Amino acid sequence: MKREPTTHGLPVWAEIDHTALAHNVRVLRERAAGAAFMAVVKADAYGHGLLPVARTAVAAGATWLGVAQMPEAFALRDAGVTTRLLTWLAVPGADFAGAVSRDIDLSASAPWTLDEIAAAARAVGRPARVHLKVDTGLGRGGAYGADWSTLVRHARPLEAEGVLSAVGVWTHFAHADAPDHPTVLAQQERLFEAAAEAERQGCRPEVRHLANSAATLVHPSAHGDLVRPGIAIYGLSPVPQIEDDFGLRPVMSLRARLALVKRLPAGQGISYGHLYTPTQDTVVGLIPAGYADGIPRNATNVGPVIVGDTRTRVAGRVCMDQFVVDLGSRSSAQAGDIATLFGGAPGEPTAQDWAAATDTISYEIVSRLGARVPRIHLGAAEDLGAAEDPA
Ligand SMILES: *Cc1c(COP(=O)(O)O)cnc(C)c1O
Repeated sequence: MKREPTTHGLPVWAEIDHTALAHNVRVLRERAAGAAFMAVVKADAYGHGLLPVARTAVAAGATWLGVAQMPEAFALRDAGVTTRLLTWLAVPGADFAGAVSRDIDLSASAPWTLDEIAAAARAVGRPARVHLKVDTGLGRGGAYGADWSTLVRHARPLEAEGVLSAVGVWTHFAHADAPDHPTVLAQQERLFEAAAEAERQGCRPEVRHLANSAATLVHPSAHGDLVRPGIAIYGLSPVPQIEDDFGLRPVMSLRARLALVKRLPAGQGISYGHLYTPTQDTVVGLIPAGYADGIPRNATNVGPVIVGDTRTRVAGRVCMDQFVVDLGSRSSAQAGDIATLFGGAPGEPTAQDWAAATDTISYEIVSRLGARVPRIHLGAAEDLGAAEDPA
């Protein structure tokens, strides 16, 4: 028998379904069959757990991994992950030498970054791989307007010196979640124009890339040589306003055990500030998870929860470590019963439901999950190869 991790006695945990994760990677790869595939695993894999997610994504066919910060990239390499890996958000003084020596691709939006990368490459004694980032209209990272030509002209002598190679030209969308927005096409055209300019200057980029999850799913013309889906590999839609779920399956289910069940009389206010007051005698359950665990405090009175067959919502204030749910006067719930805040099974609330209830996006709901919440990996690559239980 395969050993599955147990949740016995845990107050709150997040189940990470690696079968769903692998399925989502395959669905997205089919959508962008001609392109290389970068699984974006920044921010602890959107809260799902960096290393196990990276390993499953690679096993399911991801050919690249992408992270925002250099320490995230180092964590992958230092754990033995050898997949092509890009990190894109560094500040002056970052450990570029550590990145070059670990064979990590870097991004540059400005000449200072190229200079620091070049110095690191000279020190390490091997050339760096750099993706030149162009701001095609997001107005955030990337070289904008005439700065693009400056960036390309700055890279060329460093290429000639042999200390770096501009292997990528890339950008990021402002409105990819609004498939019909006119900026989508304009940004795409600007990216390919910028890449052509770099080539005229002598660069030989291997990959031109711009597609996040939404573009991977709905804009085949933006796939370029490499797609960079994040949220969709976790089974959450980047375009929740569109009915289609694209065949994706949610990967994370957030569950807790009731720490206490008790009767309260009508009129007894619940939790700090008494923002919820039952109008009849009722049964309440105490959920041992709060804003320190990433439960939004503004889910007060609105966050959906299911306990057994009872679909209810947060009753009163979300506190640091706990909140209450109203289970109704006829509830037979017991301490220890499992409550699902969000999950993937039919009938369960979703991370998108929590996002809608708290006026945010599903990305924030999953990636803000606190360090105190154990991630329980089900069907992870390393489990699949684990020894049989001798008992
Ligand atoms: C986060 C991120 C992605 C992935 O975006 P999703 O909308 O989650 O698919 C892709 N590229 C860059 C540069 C990112 O920062």
